[in-house]
Amino acid sequence: MGHDECIFCKIAIGQVLSEQVYADSDLIVFKDIRPVAPLHLLVVPRRHIPTLQHCESEDQELLGKMMLLAPKLAREFGYAYEPGSDKEANGFRVVMNTGPGGGQELYHIHMHVIAGLRPSICM
Ligand code: AMP
Ligand code: ZN
Repeated sequence: MGHDECIFCKIAIGQVLSEQVYADSDLIVFKDIRPVAPLHLLVVPRRHIPTLQHCESEDQELLGKMMLLAPKLAREFGYAYEPGSDKEANGFRVVMNTGPGGGQELYHIHMHVIAGLRPSICM
């Protein structure tokens, strides 16, 4: 699939609408249209990279930025992990499906940030 046909590239340039919750020069974050949990966000680089398998060492900073954004988003939406807390939804999950064997449907890398379900429940 060329970038022109990529839905996440289109979302990144505002050609397709999304329920955006965060944006900076490298990343956008929006709500998944088919949420599997009370919180289901997608952290998406603006640059088109098809899969995690395509990432190179030059992408290290971008990937680190994506990962570090997850706990900030979790905190913002009330799902931060708080050691020792007995709150019901205490923490979150990050997932990057990679390739057909990893269940990837959209070939523009994205990190799912999921919270509000028991960890035994898989997406
Ligand atoms: P994956 O299986 O990891 O490739 O996940 C792709 C995800 O993108 C799925 O959870 C879809 O529900 C989600 N998705 C597809 N199209 C859109 C869209 N236009 N806006 C928000 N989420 C989307
Ligand atoms: Zn793309």
